[in-house]
Order: sequence, then C-alpha cells, then structure tokens
Amino acid sequence: MFLSNEEKLNTVVNWLRKSKRVLFITGAGISADSGLPTYRGVGGLYNRGRTEEGYTIEECLSGSMFQRKPEITWKYMLQLGIAVAEHQPNDAHRIIAEWEKRLNDAGGKIVVVTQNIDNYHRAAGSKNVYEFHGSLRILYCTDCSWSEELEPDAAVLTRFKELQTTLPPRCPECRAVIRPRVVLFEESLPRYEIEEFRYEFNNGKGFDLVFSIGTSAMFSYITAPVRTAALQKIPTVEINPVESDLSQYVEIYLPMRAAEALLEIEKRWTTKEL
Ligand SMILES: [Zn+2]
Repeated sequence: MFLSNEEKLNTVVNWLRKSKRVLFITGAGISADSGLPTYRGVGGLYNRGRTEEGYTIEECLSGSMFQRKPEITWKYMLQLGIAVAEHQPNDAHRIIAEWEKRLNDAGGKIVVVTQNIDNYHRAAGSKNVYEFHGSLRILYCTDCSWSEELEPDAAVLTRFKELQTTLPPRCPECRAVIRPRVVLFEESLPRYEIEEFRYEFNNGKGFDLVFSIGTSAMFSYITAPVRTAALQKIPTVEINPVESDLSQYVEIYLPMRAAEALLEIEKRWTTKEL
C-alpha cells in the first residue's frame, strides 16, 4: 500500500503516543545533520580513498594498525575527535532526549543504541544510551590503570589539539601509549554493553516501537534488532535519506533527513488533534 509522507508521519505519531518502550538505533546519518563528517569523510580527504600514508581509512583505524603504528591511528582518531568537538548535537539528538524525558514521566522508557562515537546523544541529554563503538571522550592507558574522562565542552577541543602535538600520546604515569575507549576495526564490541542491551531487548519488557535513524548496513549487529523487531511484527520505522538494506524490512520508511523527520513528528505529537 502506498502511503504519502504525511500519512507515514501521522502513523508514526500514533504509534509513539501508544508506546511505552521505544528503541532508537542510530548511525552516522543522525550526526551528519550536525555537519559532522563520517570517518570516511575524514580519510577521504586524500587521493584514491587512501590516506597520505597509503592506507585506507579503515586500515588506519584498525586494531592491528594501532598495535604496529599507533601514531597513524591516533592521527585520524584525533581528526575525528576535533571534528566532533567543533560540531554539536542537532535537533534529532535533542528531540530523542526530550522524548526520553516525556516517556519517562509517563512511566515508559526510551533506549538509544548508537554506532557513533561522538557522544552527542548523551551531550543532548539522553540517559539510556548504549555506545556499541565506544566513545572518544574516555582515554585510558594500554598498560596501567590511568584514565581520563573528557567533559563535552570547549576543553575537549583544547585537549585533542594538545594530544596532536606528540603522536602517539603517552600515559603521564608510565609512558605507555594511551587510547580512547573506542572499538577499532577488527576489534570486538564491548561485551558488557552488548549483553546488557540483549537483556533489555529480549528478557526485559522488549520494545513496542523501533526506530532506525541514519544507519548503514555495514554494521549488521547495529541493524539486527530492527530486523528482529520487524519479524516479530513490532512497528518499525526507518529514517534515512537514502534507502538501505533495512528499508525493505521496516513497516514505515521515511526518506528524510534525521532532524527534519523528527521535527515533523514532534510537531504532530505536540499538536492535540490529529
Ligand atoms: Zn600508564
């Protein structure tokens, strides 16, 4: 059945009004609205998709490169980190945080699972956030127990720029190489977070509405809960300006940008008559 965008948006609002537990799965697309380049955008500044060292950006940001040449991994992680610090969460992050409060007040719950390492969901005020790929704001030593948590404010930018001066940055306690708590390519996901989310999804009360926003099929474990929900006939919504592998599975596919779609939904939700 063909639905216009208007009908789709109204359906989503009706689902939201009836839902107690809502899951948001977000990818690079949600932060694109903040003007943030993806990690590929960072690496893509060079010729033929290779960095000036002659590697692909995925190789630069991989666990094995970090072992061999941590200064290369750090160079590109800091480019990402500085881009994150120079941009801010957008309306999409803010609206999800606002909905979390709204549902919470009504005895419901919103959970966010993200592949992004920019920390924007938490910075926008979301509390129940699973960062499957970790976050750039926590640094730790690869050898001793030293760690540092960066606050999401202007000081992060200064700190990242300071780290850039001597690569790879070293532990102030033991001089071993430090790293941010992010999952590099080839590395496994944080087990504790995954298990906790799995519990929330299966053994908890489950979800009665699932959104996927700006995710790409590249990280299948990120999109898997959406496919599972769709198979279980739980209402599913995908917001993505370009169709993805998920689009055929979801009940409603909105070909819109994240902030634009969520603003439209919020406008309708806060309007009494529909
Ligand atoms: Zn150390």
